[in-house]
Amino acid sequence: MSLRFPESMDECVYFTRRAIGNGKAVAWVFREECPECKKALMSKPKDEKTGKPKIRASEYVCPECNYTVEKKEYEDTLTCSIQYTCPECMNSGEVQVPFMRKSYKGAKAVIFNCEKCDAKIAVTKKMKALKK
Ligand SMILES: [Zn+2]
Ligand SMILES: [Zn+2]
Repeated sequence: MSLRFPESMDECVYFTRRAIGNGKAVAWVFREECPECKKALMSKPKDEKTGKPKIRASEYVCPECNYTVEKKEYEDTLTCSIQYTCPECMNSGEVQVPFMRKSYKGAKAVIFNCEKCDAKIAVTKKMKALKK
């Protein structure tokens, strides 16, 4: 598998780099197109005064047809791409997992297993919201 790396932060809902023990992970989630009209990528609503996206908005809106979906509902349908170096076996790999929040040691995390040694690896979901 060869994952596509985002060319610009504008393509992503989330992007994070984390150190995990002796390993590391880079995780990102691409924005996806509107499920209704499929003409545009879903994005945060824009502030009418400044024209800038409202980062803290609790919903996503299609700029073409105005289809609106609640943030969590939308994000749960997305796919998280991860490039990692396993902290257990130092294998470098790439995986794609559903962008779902699971509880892990008291934090929300995207959890996946190393393809080589099956170690459970958690990318804690304290991913930074992207700034413009
Ligand atoms: Zn649409
Ligand atoms: Zn491993």
